[in-house]
Amino acid sequence: MGKTYNISNSSDMRRFTRDLQNSVQKIAIDALKKKSFEFACPFCKRPIQVHSGNNICPYCRRTVNVELNIHT
Ligand SMILES: [Zn+2]
Repeated sequence: MGKTYNISNSSDMRRFTRDLQNSVQKIAIDALKKKSFEFACPFCKRPIQVHSGNNICPYCRRTVNVELNIHT
């Protein structure tokens, strides 16, 4: 990572804790975005497997845009 922290220094300790939380959160969000999940197609209402982004419904061939609302 190329970052150094002086843990005995309280502002560095805060920085370290914050950076750690950010990286853990980023990994969790990346994993979630790659994951596919079941979603009801808004057009034909059938359950389809989707991932974050644009998906083509295999039943009605329409584009289903899935946006994950993740607040960081
Ligand atoms: Zn559909």
